[in-house]
Formats: sequence, C-alpha cells, structure tokens
Amino acid sequence: MSDVDDGDDLVRYYRWLRSHGLNDSHSGNASIRVADRMVITPTGCCADTLTPTNLVDTALEGPPAGGASLDAALHLAVYRTRPDVNAVIHSHGPHAIAVTLSGRDLVPLDFEGQYYFKRVPVVNIPYEIYVDDSPVAVAGALAKSNVAIVRGHGLYACGETLDLAYKWTCSVESSARISWLNNLSGDKTHRELNWL
Ligand SMILES: [Zn+2]
Repeated sequence: MSDVDDGDDLVRYYRWLRSHGLNDSHSGNASIRVADRMVITPTGCCADTLTPTNLVDTALEGPPAGGASLDAALHLAVYRTRPDVNAVIHSHGPHAIAVTLSGRDLVPLDFEGQYYFKRVPVVNIPYEIYVDDSPVAVAGALAKSNVAIVRGHGLYACGETLDLAYKWTCSVESSARISWLNNLSGDKTHRELNWL
C-alpha cells in the first residue's frame, strides 16, 4: 500500500459491509482508484481480520497482481469504462439478491430509491462462466448506472468516492428490503412493478 489513509478507509468501509449485514465474513470485495493504480481487497480475505497491509496494489492497465480479489479484473474493467469512478464495492445484500431472483430489474417502491435509481439493472451470468464473463457484463451495466445486481449473487456499486459507492450500496439494500416487506404485507405493488 502506498497511501496509508486510503488503505485505512478501504478496510473501514469493507468492514462496515460485514457489520451491517451486507456481506458475510468473507464475501464481497472493494477497491479504490489511486492515480493510475487500483488498491483492492485480497482474495479470500475476512472482513473481521483484514488490515491495510493485506490490500493488493495493482496497475490499472494489465492483468491484476497476484493475491488480488477474484473480481479484480471486473473492478479494472469498471475503472477503464468510467473515468469518473474512483471506488467500486461488491456486496451480498440478502434482500437485493432475494427480490431479483426472477432476473428482472428492480424498480424501487420508495421515494429515495426512485430518486436515486429509478431502476436497478439485473445482470444474469451463468454461475459456471462467472469469472470469465462478469468483467464485461458488469462493467457494461455500470457504464450507464452506478449500481447493478448480478442475479443470485449480489450488488456492484461504483462512485466518485468510496463514500458514494457505499451510499448506493446501502440505498439499494434498503429499497430491496422495503420491496420484500411490501410483498410480505400482501400488497401487490412490488409484484406489479417487478414480477408481472
Ligand atoms: Zn460475490
């Protein structure tokens, strides 16, 4: 790690995802752009024990450095596609996954979700070809949106700052939770907007 403060921030936000139920102990990943390089969480890391010295520093051009998250190529593809983006967060928010298993885009029911997103695109990538196909598929979806859900897997969010990527992550999960609760209540609004 070349910049201690940036590394501290990345670890802090990655831990918050775990603390707030947006990831389990080892799921998800996060990265930041630092000039012409990317700093990313390592493959197989645990949010509870990760330290800044474990982060992997890799060039934006070329293949990911050894030890980087399996999603590193996807993160690099997002930075190459979106010059305005300086942070990418991947999380496994359970409500976002659960309400989009149909494969249809998520249309938020609530005011904030509608204000920020209108519609959250859902990308379907067969599990068996995930590592090969996900960089192009997810970077393509994030070219036009700051958030995209991969069906059955989780959310990718990007932003100008780490804080904004975190904000979009939390907001999508909140909207998905509201949709889930609406569905449980017996009201048909979520079904009519998202399932029919
Ligand atoms: Zn994942």
